[in-house]
Amino acid sequence: MESPESAALRSRVFEVLATRFPSATLVDRADLLGFTVDGVKLPLIDYSRGIRNPQLLDATLSVVSSADGPYGDEQVAPGVWRYDFRAGGSGGDNRKLIEAHRLGVDIILFRKLRPNIYQAVYPARVAHVDEGVGQVLVTLDDLVSIADHTPSVVERRWAEYIAKHRVHQPAFRGMVLRAYETQCTVCRFKHAELLDAAHITADANEAGDAVVTNGMAMCKIHHAAYDQNFLGITPDYTITINGDLLAEVDGPMLKHGLQEMHGAHITLPRRRAEHPDRERLSQRYLEFSLR
Ligand SMILES: [Zn+2]
Repeated sequence: MESPESAALRSRVFEVLATRFPSATLVDRADLLGFTVDGVKLPLIDYSRGIRNPQLLDATLSVVSSADGPYGDEQVAPGVWRYDFRAGGSGGDNRKLIEAHRLGVDIILFRKLRPNIYQAVYPARVAHVDEGVGQVLVTLDDLVSIADHTPSVVERRWAEYIAKHRVHQPAFRGMVLRAYETQCTVCRFKHAELLDAAHITADANEAGDAVVTNGMAMCKIHHAAYDQNFLGITPDYTITINGDLLAEVDGPMLKHGLQEMHGAHITLPRRRAEHPDRERLSQRYLEFSLR
């Protein structure tokens, strides 16, 4: 087990982190290097290495994957990333990374999207260690079970394609679904296969678009209804159904699936920092009301 001192500091780091930078937000390099916990400086990334092993912690605190590098950042499945060992086998920096897997502690994955711009993905785990090949798989906490396998060639090619073409989108779905505990924010439907991460607003800044606070987990029906402005969500998190639709008489999907949702509140993520952004909701609600 992780020592009590190490565990206490780690959990404190995550508390402070959640307050300052919600999961999936973009963070500046300077803020990561200047990070403080209760007045004590504790950089979240290393100055020159892609792994951060603070002396006070028994195991790794964070790793950096580079989406702007020549190989993309090798997301091998939604919410699962590959991280290559630093040279030196199972010793040196890698020892604490292997330790993070053995102890099952939370770590942070920083995806470097552009020079000096990182996306914080956490809480994450080291789900799989391959000492022979010299790599680990890092995954969002609740995906640990599906990550514990070695990626196939097909998975890797697919991941490379995704990394090349849409650097940040695959992570978005995983993070939004995790924040909403895999349920539709409107109707609480719970089957991941039929859930999407709906965007609230499109953003000129592509990476800014993919933050958790610009997303809501929705089932396919409610996502489509939201995108078509049949269903609106106010900045106070109230569901509004389009007036024409409210007046219509039809079968059970219309009645129970849409009309009865009118005036209800959406189900919010447990963490306040991951609640949908009110500014974006308000901008988007305006579009809905003008329909
Ligand atoms: Zn739904």
